[in-house]
Amino acid sequence: MNRREFLLSSLSLATAGSLVACDDHGASGMPKSPGVTVGPDGKRRIPWQNWSGYQHCLPDARIAPKSLDELVDALRHSRGGIRPVGAGHSFTPLVPTDGTIVSLRNFEGLVRHDAEALTATLGAGTKLGQLGELLDPVGQALPNMPDIDEQSIAGAISTGTHGTGQDLGALHSMLTALTLVTPAGEVIECSRDRHPEVFDAARVSLGSLGLITEVTLQNVPTHRLKRRVWIEPLDQLLERFDELAESNHSFEMYFIPFCDRAVGITINPTDEPIRPRQAEPDNDAVMQMKQLRDVIGWWPGLRRLLLNKATEDYEPEEAVDLWYRVFPSERAVRFNEMEYHLPRESLLPTLRRVRETIESAHSEVFFPIEVRTVKGDDAWLSPFHGHARSGSIAVHRYYQEDPLPYFADIEPLYQDIGGRPHWGKLHTLDARTLAARYPRWKDFLEVRAALDPQGRMLNDHLKKVFGLV
Ligand SMILES: Cc1cc2nc3c(=O)[nH]c(=O)nc-3n(C[C@H](O)[C@H](O)[C@H](O)COP(=O)(O)OP(=O)(O)OC[C@H]3O[C@@H](n4cnc5c(N)ncnc54)[C@H](O)[C@@H]3O)c2cc1C
Repeated sequence: MNRREFLLSSLSLATAGSLVACDDHGASGMPKSPGVTVGPDGKRRIPWQNWSGYQHCLPDARIAPKSLDELVDALRHSRGGIRPVGAGHSFTPLVPTDGTIVSLRNFEGLVRHDAEALTATLGAGTKLGQLGELLDPVGQALPNMPDIDEQSIAGAISTGTHGTGQDLGALHSMLTALTLVTPAGEVIECSRDRHPEVFDAARVSLGSLGLITEVTLQNVPTHRLKRRVWIEPLDQLLERFDELAESNHSFEMYFIPFCDRAVGITINPTDEPIRPRQAEPDNDAVMQMKQLRDVIGWWPGLRRLLLNKATEDYEPEEAVDLWYRVFPSERAVRFNEMEYHLPRESLLPTLRRVRETIESAHSEVFFPIEVRTVKGDDAWLSPFHGHARSGSIAVHRYYQEDPLPYFADIEPLYQDIGGRPHWGKLHTLDARTLAARYPRWKDFLEVRAALDPQGRMLNDHLKKVFGLV
């Protein structure tokens, strides 16, 4: 029996009668966008909202320039605030503005590549999901990828987007060069040798320095990967966590709330023949866990019994495919998320505290908790800056439910160990706290002030984050 069959059959026993079709995968019930609005000045305004619907705004203008000249011209002639947008997959209010939202979706595709150095220059608006078809034909692959591939490359690097693997860095650590257009329309090409201080600041910049138009990535030769997913007792998986992180290219675990078993996933290079991934069971499983919560969330003992039963006898799933078909999964059930990056040695003790907090005070939680490791790097605002390795814990709340009470109880667990939040995921830290956790904080702010002296790239959220009122 596989994960889908078991979860569907045994959890439906518990939720019989209330088990409605899982039609809630995505769009249904999403907060309705207000639609195009015409202001008193007669100007049409097109609203914007993020993937989860939690962030939204009514900007004065939304533009998508088609060329560098058009972008430079638009920046020089626009007034007020400017916020870049990628695919809108950040949970924090990085994009909202009443000024101009700029999308570089027309800056996409492979600009050039170097077959010997294994580098590739890509338009900043290229989606991660396009990279396989662009890079594989030229023999290149990303060394690692996040959970999904919907993000734009510039949006992803700007928040420190990462996958898992203790010897694999976040996406921005693969950058060798990038091109940035400042709000004044100045075009800066930077790398470790050219304008190195701009490069150090711009690799993770929350879109606060200008518009990134091109990025050059240091890739690896294209290859196949084997993905293995299994379930085992949580205590045993925690015991084995360090060894699995050490001995696999990429390892992550999902702890299932109110269950004594957890999911492990490894990804490793292989020469085995292709055996594609089957249809994703994860979205159904999450909705089954929600239904179990809805029906018997008030009875944790029964919930645990059923979840333990549902995760017993699960046959591991294995798949082999090209790198870009192995890393990303589909996330059809919408949610809001908080993820913190912690010193690696604090990861598992903190995870135990997260579990205690959820199971003692948050019976509403049903989303599995994602646990990953990431190699450190030296970008100034990288949440992995200066750590040889970091450990990450991500908690989620269904998009139609208020995430804040749950996140407010989890976030303090990360504070006394100097946790750094994912820039694209919900957190409450302000400049005073953040400055103490980032050794190059002041250097970043100096570069920011030099590139954007009028603060046109700042919205309310960034003013709070950077302490610039
Ligand atoms: C379902 C889901 C799964 C996710 N999985 C992961 C994961 O596995 N790992 C992980 O680390 N994160 C993950 N995230 C978070 C996500 O990767 C980040 O929030 C990422 O920044 C989103 O990219 P985007 O293209 O949607 O950018 P947006 O959210 O649109 O923008 C992000 C930031 O980039 C800036 N920006 C965008 N384009 C440019 C540009 N051209 N120049 C300058 N700045 C720019 C924006 O101003 C903003 O500050 C996930 C999010 C979702 C919704």
